[in-house]
Amino acid sequence: MKPLVIANWKMNPTTERAARALFQRSRRSLAGVRGVEVAIAPPFPYLGLARGGKAFRLCAQDVFWEASGPYTGEVSPAMLKDLGVRHVLIGHSERRRIFGEDDATINRKIRAVLRAGMAPVIAVGEEHQESEEVVPRLIAHQLSSALAGIPRRALGGVVIAYEPVWALSTSAGGKPDTPDEATRRAIYIRKLLVKILGSRIADTIRIIYGGSVSAENAADYLCADIRGMEGLLVGGASLRPREFGAIVRAVANARH
Ligand code: PEP
Repeated sequence: MKPLVIANWKMNPTTERAARALFQRSRRSLAGVRGVEVAIAPPFPYLGLARGGKAFRLCAQDVFWEASGPYTGEVSPAMLKDLGVRHVLIGHSERRRIFGEDDATINRKIRAVLRAGMAPVIAVGEEHQESEEVVPRLIAHQLSSALAGIPRRALGGVVIAYEPVWALSTSAGGKPDTPDEATRRAIYIRKLLVKILGSRIADTIRIIYGGSVSAENAADYLCADIRGMEGLLVGGASLRPREFGAIVRAVANARH
């Protein structure tokens, strides 16, 4: 399976003109890259601007669980699908913390995304740096409640993003997790997935790392010899197209 790199633009940029320019510059910076699947997650109003591009796929940053109806302000899976969206971020720590999304909400959104034929990118990760006993327990809880009650066969091809909140560039004192620790987490998450879903489905799931990824550290998270992290979720650096291109190239090279 190809590694996956997702750009999370969050609530940036603030004008359509700037969004068009960012798409264009990102596309240019990705020219000629092979062997990596790239997805860009812009704010909802800009999703329609990038249709038909070949350099990257579209990812949404959020979704509601109903298909249509009286839900003022919400965006449905069907609408995203119609715009060509393939992946949807669910359970990002900013959604949990600022908008109060809980495990039940996250589970409903994952089901809705799967029903619409898209792949959820399910974010898990501890808020603070914790001991070796605590972190695996937290991840296990987040993952099992996210997947609770969903038939195994529906979960092929989903993506798990391990994003320790303390490592995000926007967290106070945010610094990247070490590649060794991130690899240990990937191995642990894969074991959990095998336990919950069986190895046939678990094998189809990519685990990616997010948290202060830069052009300098990107390659360190990818392991050529074992199944550790198989991609990256990139926030701040994805708003700098040249650096984003360098990150994707680093991933492509790290896998060869
Ligand atoms: C994120 O918040 O999803 C993220 C990966 O942010 P950053 O790369 O800026 O730490």
